[in-house]
Amino acid sequence: MTVVTRFAPSPTGTLHVGNVRTALHNWLWARKHGGRFLLRIDDTDVERSKEEHVDAIRADLAWLGLDIDGEERQSARFALYEAEFEKLKAAGRVYACYETPEELDIRRKILLSRGLPPVYERKPADAPVPPGVAPHWRFRLDHDAPIEWTDLVRGDQHFEPKTMSDPVVRRADGSWLYLLPSVIDDIAMAITHVVRGEDHVSNTAAQIQMFQALGATPPAFAHEALLVGTEGKLSKRLGSLGMASLRDEGIEPAALVALLARLGTSDPVEPVTSVEPLVQGIDFARFGRAPARFDEGELALLNQKILHHTDHAAVASRLPLAIDAARWHAIRPNLMTVAEAADWAPVFDGPFDPPAADESDRPVLAAAAAAAPGIAWDADPWPALTAAVKEATGAKGRALFLPLRRALTGRDHGPDMAELLPLIDKDQALARLSAA
Ligand code: GLU
Repeated sequence: MTVVTRFAPSPTGTLHVGNVRTALHNWLWARKHGGRFLLRIDDTDVERSKEEHVDAIRADLAWLGLDIDGEERQSARFALYEAEFEKLKAAGRVYACYETPEELDIRRKILLSRGLPPVYERKPADAPVPPGVAPHWRFRLDHDAPIEWTDLVRGDQHFEPKTMSDPVVRRADGSWLYLLPSVIDDIAMAITHVVRGEDHVSNTAAQIQMFQALGATPPAFAHEALLVGTEGKLSKRLGSLGMASLRDEGIEPAALVALLARLGTSDPVEPVTSVEPLVQGIDFARFGRAPARFDEGELALLNQKILHHTDHAAVASRLPLAIDAARWHAIRPNLMTVAEAADWAPVFDGPFDPPAADESDRPVLAAAAAAAPGIAWDADPWPALTAAVKEATGAKGRALFLPLRRALTGRDHGPDMAELLPLIDKDQALARLSAA
């Protein structure tokens, strides 16, 4: 059996961290099992679906490195839905309903006021059909067949169909609701695992009977606990936190992938630059039932750690030409984002105005300016330079290193000077030391 998963966003908006997490888990599962990962665009709502969102979804998945093995669009599959719908109708599993939304609302309120569950009440088969009213359509749940499945995250699930309303599957204007087309597609695309948020659990109960009514065995289901913000709720910020803003903040796709793969599982979040351990490690049995907390601070920190061992080749296209592999290697332990690397280009090659030196630092800098011309820049110049200055001035420790670092880089902190100095243009370094 080939594992086939799908990510099924509705293109009514762009992706946010919550649905990217679902996409990632589907992708990891397919890759772990050598299977296929499909992108299914759930665009049955023609009004609200936008082509620009479809493009953005594709671009975001590509940015994250979640390659797809096929793309399907629900709007191209209406003929199939129609045919399957007719079969269910003929079998008495979908039926016409004529209530107006107002009537349904009143019935609901009456039931609730009597302390009863607001379950839809079926009309008797011989109930009169109001003339001139286009019906909407419901799926008839089989009340005698308890619904059970072993969820890969949640364990054994049990639903009593009697306590559930027959779900509406098609509106009076002929448009489709999400439930039935999704099942028809999951069957047609031979989906083996449906991985999605736990907000779909009660949909799954109804959909399991739809699979059966269409003569198919339901796939396996994994319903993951929802993602919440640090304050413990699904914050507005989290719901709208899109890939574009994360990209602008300098978040690397690898950091987001590393965090979302493991958040809410019993495996630790680790600063991995390769997805391989994440692919091998995904295991729904290790997913927790409690909501997973997404912390932007944790993401920024992970981003930083990942940059610190990211190879030059992986980021070269986003770096100024001046930042070659050796320079990248020297500065990466001090970066929070790749974009910050550009700030270092003038440190290496100029233009660069050294900060005005403290009076007390002048002897050290003068000694350095005197010694530097005689030092070979291609053979460990830093130990040679500091040894010469120490000998000339007696300065040591911080009083020796800090004035030099400041004059040469303009900063009090930064990369290891022994690694950095040979990468700074020698004439530039001499000019800075003399100017200070
Ligand atoms: N379009 C649905 C959603 O975004 C898909 C749910 C599913 O994975 O079946 O919620």
